[in-house]
Amino acid sequence: QCAAVCPTGAITIKNDTHDVWEAIHDPKKRVVMQIAPAVRVAIGEAFGYEPGENTIGKLIASLRKLGVDAIFDTSVGADLTIMEESAELVETLSEEGRKYPLFTSCCPGWIRFVETKYPHLMKYVSTSKSPMEMFGAVIKEYYKKLDKEEGKETVSVAIMPCTAKKYEASREEFVRNSRPDVDYVLTSEEVIGMFKEIGIRFDRLEPEAYDMPFSIYSGAGVIFGATGGVTEAAVRRVVADKSPKALKDIEFIGTRGMAGTKICELDLGERTVRIGIVSGLGNAEELIKKIESGEEHFDFVEVMACPGGCVAGAGQPFARSTEKRLRAEGLYKNDKALQIKRSENNPIVKNLYDDLLKNREHELLHVHYPGHKADA
Ligand code: SF4
Repeated sequence: QCAAVCPTGAITIKNDTHDVWEAIHDPKKRVVMQIAPAVRVAIGEAFGYEPGENTIGKLIASLRKLGVDAIFDTSVGADLTIMEESAELVETLSEEGRKYPLFTSCCPGWIRFVETKYPHLMKYVSTSKSPMEMFGAVIKEYYKKLDKEEGKETVSVAIMPCTAKKYEASREEFVRNSRPDVDYVLTSEEVIGMFKEIGIRFDRLEPEAYDMPFSIYSGAGVIFGATGGVTEAAVRRVVADKSPKALKDIEFIGTRGMAGTKICELDLGERTVRIGIVSGLGNAEELIKKIESGEEHFDFVEVMACPGGCVAGAGQPFARSTEKRLRAEGLYKNDKALQIKRSENNPIVKNLYDDLLKNREHELLHVHYPGHKADA
């Protein structure tokens, strides 16, 4: 195993490819993978595709060639995150005189930054787990019974755009029943290395589809990979008007684009909600200073540690500003091509709430880091 350094958290993290190969070759193990939204529009660059080209079908086909047992999309987890986080947002909007916004929680680089530099702000960070961890918990729960029947052990692997996700997966808050919900995280670059190691012809493979039962996800989940995507997905959820026109209008409230700081306002009937979107921790710091001094007030703030969001994660093929923009555009294109645009309309999400998650939402979908508020 070799070590890599996380550029966002200055944390030394190991490369997990060796352990994942071992799990794949172990007949007693069921290797289940989830793929983050941002990976689909970047990984193809290593095989001659243009930045932003959605190569998810070829990625799935390539992973099957490796011998992976089941492959799902982290966008399902993102749909769950939106359901939980937007419920928290609605709750915080009713708090009179609240000085601080609800900060998003899906970027571990940002969480680490708050914990170390602004611990007093932890109680304003959403307790909703990241899409990877929500889906990791769902995957482990889903296969529990089958593992027992078949005498197998599910190994949960997440393909992510950054090494900060390895740190997140290793946190004690995500260990349940003595095992982490996500056993290994592979970056896009590590997966590219695995394909090259065994000579997978990524470009020659016919695209394949995800496995059942988690094969449906919304466009809202997919756009999580670009800065502003979480906010746009949450806005789609909280607005009362669910018409196609309203959906189109949301595109133009100011969530999109590669600017490091974006501010938008949303009219929710009785009140106007003020939203800040930042990518890059320097921009986050600037925004925090303005909030603390009273110069700015926000109801909701989305923070992504990487400038541009996960499309530009340090575990992805190298990206300059053009690649970042094209990758983000690729995600919005993917959103356009999907029938389901809103997280609440994903039938898998509905089924999960009616069944596997019933009365266990807080246990499986929320996290309490040190300094976090006590109740979700
Ligand atoms: Fe990882 Fe960067 Fe995305 Fe944060 S913004 S989750 S550090 S890729």
